[in-house]
Formats: sequence, structure tokens, C-alpha cells
Amino acid sequence: MTYSAVKDRRQSVGVRVGNVQIGGGAPVVVQSMTNTDTADPESTARQVADLARAGSELVRITVDREESAAAVPKIRDRLDQMGVDVPLIGDFHYIGHTLLRDHPACAEALAKYRINPGNVGFREKQDRNFSMMIEKAVEFGKPVRIGVNWGSLDQALLTRLMDENAKLAEPLDARLVMHEAMVQSGISSAARAEELGLGRDKIIISAKVSEVQDLIACYRLLASRSDYALHLGLTEAGMGSKGIVASTAGLSVLLQEGIGDTIRISLTPEPGGDRSREVIVGQEILQTMGIRSFAPMVIACPGCGRTTSTVFQELGQEVQGYIRNRLPEWREQYPGFETLQLAVMGCIVNGPGESKHADIGISLPGTGEVPAAPVYIDGRKVTTLRGDDISEQFKVIVEDYVANRWGQGTGGSAAAE
Ligand code: SF4
Repeated sequence: MTYSAVKDRRQSVGVRVGNVQIGGGAPVVVQSMTNTDTADPESTARQVADLARAGSELVRITVDREESAAAVPKIRDRLDQMGVDVPLIGDFHYIGHTLLRDHPACAEALAKYRINPGNVGFREKQDRNFSMMIEKAVEFGKPVRIGVNWGSLDQALLTRLMDENAKLAEPLDARLVMHEAMVQSGISSAARAEELGLGRDKIIISAKVSEVQDLIACYRLLASRSDYALHLGLTEAGMGSKGIVASTAGLSVLLQEGIGDTIRISLTPEPGGDRSREVIVGQEILQTMGIRSFAPMVIACPGCGRTTSTVFQELGQEVQGYIRNRLPEWREQYPGFETLQLAVMGCIVNGPGESKHADIGISLPGTGEVPAAPVYIDGRKVTTLRGDDISEQFKVIVEDYVANRWGQGTGGSAAAE
């Protein structure tokens, strides 16, 4: 039996979204969202393709107005021409019911609709508009995500629960009532969708908040009360390391408990920054937790006073970049290569030891050490690299190892020196 500290995955009802399975025992799916104007089909299709190439298995686009809805089929066509089959999800707020009604080609081109029950109208309009969207999902055979968000939580529901709570002999903390409202909004909307004829296998729920502890509390409640597939994500996670750390902290706790069927990391990119970062962070969370492998991991030591040159940082970066560039081809040619582990270490202190634990490790010379870099493969020292082109030599070793170990009909690893 394989050791795993991650709890068994929560049993959820599987949902098919285009060619991707979410929940029902399928691997956790990584998805992302564009930030282009959907009404501009060319730039949106390009960004969707970039996200898909980075490994996003589903991509969401906002459908906020007539022009966007009209552009959706064009985006789908453009992607098909590019050979990108990633399913598109439409993100609807306020007028989704009329957009889906008036743009059947949009309703057809999308693989899933995201509906925010707090943003579909008030009072009697709320049920009417929500019902219209669900009826379109039924008509076109599409799944939906009931995406509750605390920034747009159903205020009537929250007010009712707050009033009921205030009448209790010992009222709960307002925060707990908010969690309850998030969960009730998701589950009652899903139940209403089922009443309207949408199958349980066509419903995913999310309950997004921007605070880690609230996220964990809401999803634990959701997971304990239903078997709907769950989409995890911390909303408005933020920029840079703050966004990455907050998302990782929240999602890791839930994933460790077996909760979550698909994830999205909502990072705010730097101006002009790469949108694909959110995909890579999502993959890295799953991979570092041992839940799913996407790409070879490069372990690198942090460096210290024993590494006064930048050689080892440069090599680490170069190897990481090389692997990313080779991913599309390796995916085609070498199934299973994703589990490859590399170590790039800065000196003799931990270099050889850590290198031996990796599939391939290199220990670079620290300050004052002999200018030679021993390389370890499968725990054995196989060669020592010298000269100005160590990184090129090392890349050849990596390429050979991957081909020998994961190439069709071959086995074993690179030959020893
Ligand atoms: S392996 Fe060497 S260079 Fe890297 S952190 Fe440890 S002592 Fe410093």
C-alpha cells in the first residue's frame, strides 16, 4: 500500500465539463480565468490558448454584455482552429438569463455556466432569472457552477439568518452566521436547480471568500452537508507572494482533508504580468502536496554565505525554464515523466546528500571548493561536470534520462559514467 498522509478524497458526484471530468474520483482539476475583454475574440482566444498551454484544464471567460455573448462562439471557433480543445466556462452576473436566452450560439459554445445566486436579481426576479439560466443549462445539456461569493452574498438570506440568530438565547458570532448563509445559498440554489430538472451530475458548488479561515470553515460545512462536486478558490487572494501564500494556506488545509474537486488560484497579476502564473501556482500546490503531478520539480537549496557567486541560482533557473519549454513535447513522448525530481544544490554541505534523494542531482562548487560539479542519478554519482557550459551538459543529461526512463518501450535510467 502506498503511503499518503492526504485523507481519502470526499465522495462527490462526478460532473462532465466538455472533455474534462470534475469530481466523482477524478484527479483534482486546475482551472483559470482570462482578464481580456471577451468582446475581443482574438485577444481572448490567444489568452485562453496561453492558459491552456500552461496546463489550465478549463478556462473561464466573463460574459458580461451583448458583445461578449456574441463573441463567445467566435472564440470557440478560433480555439478550434488553433487546435486548443480546452472547455470554456461562461461567467455570468446580473443579466446572464437574458444573454443565454438571446444568444443560443453562446449557450451552445460554452461547456459550463457559472451562476452567482447573489447576482441574479432581487425578490421574485431572483427565482425567475435563476430559473431561466437553469432552464438554458437543461436545454443545452450543460453543467453549471453555483458560485457563491461573499462580496455578492444573497442579502435577503443573510438578513433573515441574522434576524433568526438575534432571537436566539445565545446568538452565534456574526461570522458563523455568514458562513451558514454562504453554505445555505449554495446548497439551496443547487436544490432549486435540481427541482428545475438539472441533474446532480451537472452541478458544482463554490463558496468563495477572501479570508483563509472563513474559506476553510465554509468548505468544511459544504463538504459535510452535500455530495456536490466542489470548486475551491480563495477570491481576491491578492498580488504577488501574498496571493500565493493565502491561496496555498487555505486550499492546502482543505485538500489535505480530501475536500475539493477543482481549484482556481485568483492571483492579481502585476501590470503586464503573465496570467498563466495562476495555473502554475495551482499545479504546484497540488504537486508539492503529493496529490497530482504536472511537471518535474526542481529542488534548489536557498544558498547562503557558501555560495558567493550566482552560478547555482542561474543553473536552477535555467533548468526550470528548460523543463517548462520541453513540457509540451515530453507530454507527447514520455508519459509519466511528470514525477521527475531534480536537485540543484549550491555546495558540498547538503549538495551530494540532497542530490542522491532526487532522480538527478547536481552539486555545484561553493566558494573555495574545487570548480567541479558532481552529478548523481538514481542515488549514484555518475559524472562530474567542469567548464563554462555546465548548464548545457546538465540539460543533455536530463534529456537523456527522461528519454531512457519514460521513452516508449524502454526502461531503466541513464547510464553511469
Ligand atoms: S547546500 Fe551549501 S550553499 Fe546550499 S544552503 Fe546548504 S550550505 Fe548553503
